[in-house]
Amino acid sequence: MNRIYADYNATTPVDPAVLAAMLPYLGDKFGNASSAHFFGREARAAIDDARVRVARQLGAQESEIIFTGGGTESDNTVIFGVRPGHIITSAIEHHAILHACQHRRDCEVTVLPAGRDCRVDPADLQRALRPDTVLVSIMSANNETGTLQPVPELAAICRHRGVPFHTDAVQSLGKQPVSVADWGVDLLSLSAHKFYGPKGTGLLYVRRGVKLDPLLFGGSHENERRAGTENVAGIVGLARAMELPLVNLFDLTETLAAGIAAQITGAHRNGHAMLRVGNTVNFSFAGCETSGLLLGLDLEGVAVSSGSACAVGSLEPSHVLTAMGLPRDLARAAVRFSFGRATKATDGARVLAALVKVVGRLRTFTAC
Ligand code: PLP
Repeated sequence: MNRIYADYNATTPVDPAVLAAMLPYLGDKFGNASSAHFFGREARAAIDDARVRVARQLGAQESEIIFTGGGTESDNTVIFGVRPGHIITSAIEHHAILHACQHRRDCEVTVLPAGRDCRVDPADLQRALRPDTVLVSIMSANNETGTLQPVPELAAICRHRGVPFHTDAVQSLGKQPVSVADWGVDLLSLSAHKFYGPKGTGLLYVRRGVKLDPLLFGGSHENERRAGTENVAGIVGLARAMELPLVNLFDLTETLAAGIAAQITGAHRNGHAMLRVGNTVNFSFAGCETSGLLLGLDLEGVAVSSGSACAVGSLEPSHVLTAMGLPRDLARAAVRFSFGRATKATDGARVLAALVKVVGRLRTFTAC
């Protein structure tokens, strides 16, 4: 069966150029970057070069980049790295932020709501800031709906009040320009496997002067900010992946959305229709269950998901859709379509045809 992968927000394949850049560091150039001999220096040089390129891409200084083991680690480093106090985040964040916050028992956490369009209102942030606020963390693009948050505006509010602002930009890189300089953020998380790099590699940008304790202790790697032998191949791959051109799939996803609206009754679009990363659309199909939709589409050769891959197996409706105020039955009937570099225009039509079939079949069953 010729399968269609429409779950690029869950993960992406490693780009051939990224793999080619990484391979030497999984082979001959295997040194430990902490070793003083030739092999170590070779690995160190690769990391130094990657850091320069990554910093340039983000509009940052090299000393402001910490390589990590992915988006979850970057997010956790931020949440656990600030001193005790008041933290502000939002109800639509990834669990890497929300669950980490739950474990900061020495902090009081304010969770901002999101509107029906999946947007956080800057006025809510203004109101929630307190003299003891030590951190604000709001994502740049939501992983389930693709909706963009007003990051520069939120960051400006925090700067005015002298509070560090973090954004989880895991779903932005590769889909929209990401610049810490343009956005005015103090902290930013990325994960390579979301933009055609390897899994288990990410980075955290920490603006100079922002105080953050490490999450991991051990050796003096990453300037004593993240202990552990560096994943040289991963870091090289991450830097190469950041240099790939942006993928703009807005028209393709909009065509799919228009097809769904025209051909499937009881289809509800979730998230902001315009202010979104171009590769993502999310719909709920009244009278269906997410699990049936995912299974049915998989049998038709279309791989999609309900949102966070980490939530697979949980019977609870998506916390993002629930926070947006979707009724429980619609929140439990949602599908996220996320396209990527290899998606062809004809794939959109095939996805739509499969969807029409699966939704029709599921509704017939429920009607019996
Ligand atoms: N943040 C967001 C918005 C994500 O979508 C994800 C992954 O789904 C993560 C964080 C976690 O990243 P990683 O898979 O690299 O741990």
